[in-house]
Amino acid sequence: MAAGTVAALALATAVPAAAAEPPTVDQDVAQLYQDVVDLYNGLPADALRDVDRLVESPIPRIGPRTQAAQDPIPGCTEGSLLTYANKLAAQLTPLENKAFDALSGLSQLYVQGVASDKTPQVFGTDGQYTPRATETIDKLRGFWDIESWNIQLVAWKGTDLGSQAKMAQTFSLGLAPAKVKNAAALATKVLYEIPALQGGRHPLLTLNAFSAPAGSLGGKRVALGDGLLDTVDLLGFDDVSVESVIGHEYGHQVDFAHDNHPRNESSEMGPDAYGGYFVAHAKGYAWNARTQQEVTYLDASIGDCYHSHGTPDQRKAAGAWGEKQATSQADPNRIIPSATMIEKFQREYPKLMPPATDQPAAAAVAAARG
Ligand SMILES: [Zn+2]
Repeated sequence: MAAGTVAALALATAVPAAAAEPPTVDQDVAQLYQDVVDLYNGLPADALRDVDRLVESPIPRIGPRTQAAQDPIPGCTEGSLLTYANKLAAQLTPLENKAFDALSGLSQLYVQGVASDKTPQVFGTDGQYTPRATETIDKLRGFWDIESWNIQLVAWKGTDLGSQAKMAQTFSLGLAPAKVKNAAALATKVLYEIPALQGGRHPLLTLNAFSAPAGSLGGKRVALGDGLLDTVDLLGFDDVSVESVIGHEYGHQVDFAHDNHPRNESSEMGPDAYGGYFVAHAKGYAWNARTQQEVTYLDASIGDCYHSHGTPDQRKAAGAWGEKQATSQADPNRIIPSATMIEKFQREYPKLMPPATDQPAAAAVAAARG
C-alpha cells in the first residue's frame, strides 16, 4: 500500500519535471537532423536532379547518393584538397559530425532554392572575392555560346544558417508548414550551441561548389562556397581559385545546355577541360604558362580515387588539354563553339585516362589510338 503510494507520487512529480527539462544538445541535434531529412524527403521530385557538386564532402550527405560504395583505384592517391577535408572531418566528434551533416545539407538547399543574385552576393568570408567572382561570371557569359542571362552565380555562406528568416524559407521548400518555425529556430540554436561550427564559419560547412540545371530547385545556377575558397587559399592556389572553380562549374552549364550527361569520369573532366580553355584563352583570362599549370594542380587537388570524378592525374590531364586547345589555335581570338568543344573532348577523353592497373583494356585502346 505504502510502496504503491510512493510510486504514484514519484510518477506524479516526475512527469511535469521531465516536461520542463530543456532538451539536451544531443536531443537538439537529433531533432534538427530529422527535420532536415524530412525536408529533403518533402522536396519536389526533380529538385536535386543532375545537381553537380565539386567534391564528395567527407560529411555524409543527406539526400540521394550519386556514388555507390566501391573500392578505391589501386595505386591512386587522392588530391590534396580531399586529404585536407578528410583531416578536418576526422577531428569532429560523432555529435558534431551529425550537426555538420544536417547544417551543411540545409545550407546547400538555401543557396540552391532560396538565395538569388537579385540581391548583391558576397563571396568570401570578408567579401574579399566578390570582385573576382563578378568579373569571372561576366566573362563566362560572353565566352560560351549558351543561353547565359538566366544562369545565376550565388554565394554559399555558412553564416546564412544564423538567420531564422532564411532558414524558415529553406524549410518551407519541403517540410510540413506547421513544423517550419520550430525547425528554423532549432537550426540557429544548434549553430551557436556547438562551438565547433564557429557560428557557420567552419570551412567544412561550405567546402564545396555546385552547378544546378534548369528544372532543378531554384533553376540554373552556380554556387561558390566560402569554405572552399578559404581551403583553396590555404593549399596555395588563391590566385587562381575563383576563376578556375567558376570556370569549371560553368562548364557543367555548357554540358547541361547541350544535354550532355555522360555517366563516367568525363562528366567532371569535361568541365575541367572547358575551364582550362577559358582561363588560357585570349578572350578569357589569357593566363600565362605558369598560371595555367597552377590551374591544373588545382584540378588535381580535387581528384579522387574512385571511378566517379576522375583521379588527380586524369583531372590534371583534362585541364591541361583544355588549356592547350586555347594556346595552340591559329587564331587566338576565335572561340570554339561549345557543341564542338564537347565533341572534341569526348573524342579525346579515352586518351586522357592514364593506364591504371585495373584497366588493362582501356589502356590498350588508348595506346593503339596513340
Ligand atoms: Zn564538377
